Order: sequence, then structure tokens, then C-alpha cells
Amino acid sequence: MEVKEIKAFGTEAAEAPLNQMSINRRIPTPHDVEIEILYCGVCHSDLHTVRSEWGPSLYPCVPGHEIVGKVVSVGGHVSKFKVGDMVGVGCMVDSCRECQYCSEGLEQYCEPGMTGTYNSPDQHLPGNPTFGGYSESIVVDENYVLRIPDNLDPAAAAPLLCAGITTYSPLRHWNVGPGKKVGIVGIGGLGHMGLKLAKAMGAHVVAFTTSESKFAEAQRLGADEVVLSKNAEQMAAYHGKLHFILDCVSAEHDINAYLALLRVDGSLALVGAPEHPLPVAAFSLIPGRKSFAGSMIGGIAETQEMLDFCAEHNIPADIEIINIQQINEAYERLLKGDVKYRFVIEMASLKK
Ligand code: NAP
Ligand code: ZN
Ligand code: ZN
Repeated sequence: MEVKEIKAFGTEAAEAPLNQMSINRRIPTPHDVEIEILYCGVCHSDLHTVRSEWGPSLYPCVPGHEIVGKVVSVGGHVSKFKVGDMVGVGCMVDSCRECQYCSEGLEQYCEPGMTGTYNSPDQHLPGNPTFGGYSESIVVDENYVLRIPDNLDPAAAAPLLCAGITTYSPLRHWNVGPGKKVGIVGIGGLGHMGLKLAKAMGAHVVAFTTSESKFAEAQRLGADEVVLSKNAEQMAAYHGKLHFILDCVSAEHDINAYLALLRVDGSLALVGAPEHPLPVAAFSLIPGRKSFAGSMIGGIAETQEMLDFCAEHNIPADIEIINIQQINEAYERLLKGDVKYRFVIEMASLKK
């Protein structure tokens, strides 16, 4: 297959820092859209993956799955997009399109497995991994490309492609809305979107943070109440009070302390994906018929629905724009919870 060499930022090994490298992109097939990447958000999953925290990753590894850019060329059979359109690509670039989940718009749970935007075997370039958005451009089948609404700032829209949909999908699935008391745990990239979205859906929102510096800001982001989770007294005040909790924490923490805050029949959904298991006590669940669940991103149609919801309710992400050369430093700050609330790489910096 014909390829084009482009600039990217990635790593050759779990222990190595990210550096500039060259990668190959396929020449667009008739169903492909070629996108010049303008912005790419920095998700904590990028860090987990480049460091092989979830098991061995494929190297070289070029992360980035919060991609916004401009269409620069389209294949002959593309009907949904044209040159010049502002588009997005999230965490997946393909799936089998035939299984029950794909046909129901749940491509993220595709039976043979979706193709991740990075760190998946590339179906088009056998023997290579897929490479993500820390790069000049990307080529994606039009069915896995999203439309960025005109009134969203493209840089602040980038984090919606993962942080936005990963919080939107479970909030919808567990029927968050008026009359529901909802907890959002861990106010990072995902958590701050969770606050904004749950508030826009009409719920009563309680933020749980370990960071005193985020305490006041959580209210601006949409929290009706804020709890410093290290403070046992503040936590005890919410025992048995919440209908639903969305846990967005990237590291080990005591899940039983949060299950205790659920009402009878309440659910806690984990979207945070720490490297090590989180022990759950039987009696955290049994007495209140409680559910402990998980959720992974969202389907393509639901991602478009979320983007349109954010456009309608004027919900951008709160971002700090960085150059690609600052990425290793940004990862260190991410590990300290020191980001308000999402780093977004201005990809023009790759040309420097
Ligand atoms: P992030 O921006 O780094 O935010 C994580 C937040 O968790 C921090 O800001 C901090 O919030 C809290 N936290 C961090 N370390 C903690 C600790 N030791 N104890 C308690 N709280 C801690 O990360 P993100 O990009 O939002 O991603 C969050 C997690 O979701 C990651 O594990 C990521 O891989 C995962 N993820 C999952 C999906 C999915 O489909 N399920 C999709 C995307 C990401 P406070 O300062 O408020 O305490
Ligand atoms: Zn992500
Ligand atoms: Zn499928």
C-alpha cells in the first residue's frame, strides 16, 4: 500500500521520553478522509499507554485520541465530509461494522474488538500499530469521523472527543437528570467534563476532589456542592445520599468509601482506569443492593450527539494550550493532578 511519511511525537519504549519521529500514513482510500491535525488533547490514557501501565503496548507508540483538524482531502466515495470541514477523531478509527454491538451504535464494545486510534494493529498497514494524534495528519474512514459544530472553539472541543464522550455516555446510560443526586469523583480532564455535563442534564451535582485548589473552581464548573474527599467528616455527610457516582480517578483509591455514599439501588460507574485493581468489599454492595459498573467511551452516533449537546449548551472544555515539545513535562504535571483541566497540544508546534 502507498504511504506518506509525516512528523509525529511518540516513544520507542515504556521507559523512554516522547520524542519527534517519522511515521507512515496510508494514502486515502476511496472511503477515507485525510485530516490536518490542528489540536490534540492529552488524555491520562495516553500516559498509561506509552508507559505500558495496562500491559505491554505496541512500539513505537504515538498517542493522542482527542483530535480536531481540517479535512484536506477526501476519497472518491466519501459523502459525509468535504475539504475544509472542521472534524474530530476520538478513541476509535474502525470496528467490524457487523456484530450486534456495531449495529446498535455501540462500536466501542465491538465483538472482535474496535480498532483504537493508537496502539491497535493497523488493518491497512499490516505489521504496524495505529498511530494517534500527536502528529501532523491522520487518515480515517469517514464513518469514524465526527463533525465539530461551528460554534465550538476547535481547541476547546478537542477534549470532548474522549473526556466528553466518556462522561456523557454513562451519565445518559444511568439516566442522570432532574431529581438525581450525582457524584463526580476526581476533577481532572474527565471529571471536569462530568461536572459540566451532569449539570447541563439537570442533575444535582456533587464534586469530590483531593485538591484544595479545585474546591472553589468546582462550583464554576457546575458542582452544586463540593467535598474534600480526604476529609472523613465531609464524606460522612453524604452517606447513602447519591443516586449515581461517576468515578474518574486515574490512580489507586478506596472505592468502598464511595460505594458507602450510594442510596439503595444506586450505581457507581468507573471510567477511571488505574493500573492496579481496586478491592471491593462484599458488604459495600450487599446491604443497599448497589451496583459497581464500568463504562468505555461511547459509540460514534452518541459521540456526535454529545458534540451537538455541547454546542447547544455552550460547553467547551477548560484547556491549557501547550507546544508538543512540552509533552513530557505535561505528563509529569498530569501525574500530580496539576492541570486545569486539560492540556491541548497546538499541533502547528510540531513544524518548529
Ligand atoms: P486526569 O486529568 O489526570 O484526572 C485524574 C484526576 O484523578 C486528578 O485530576 C485527580 O483529581 C484525581 N486523582 C489523581 N490521582 C489521585 C489519587 N492518587 N487519589 C485520588 N484521586 C486522584 O486524568 P483523565 O484524563 O481525566 O483520566 C482519568 C482516568 O480515566 C484515567 O485512568 C484514564 O485512563 C481513564 N479514561 C478512561 C476512559 C474510558 O473509556 N473508561 C476514557 C478516558 C480516560 P482531584 O485533584 O480532583 O482529586
Ligand atoms: Zn482518552
Ligand atoms: Zn463489531
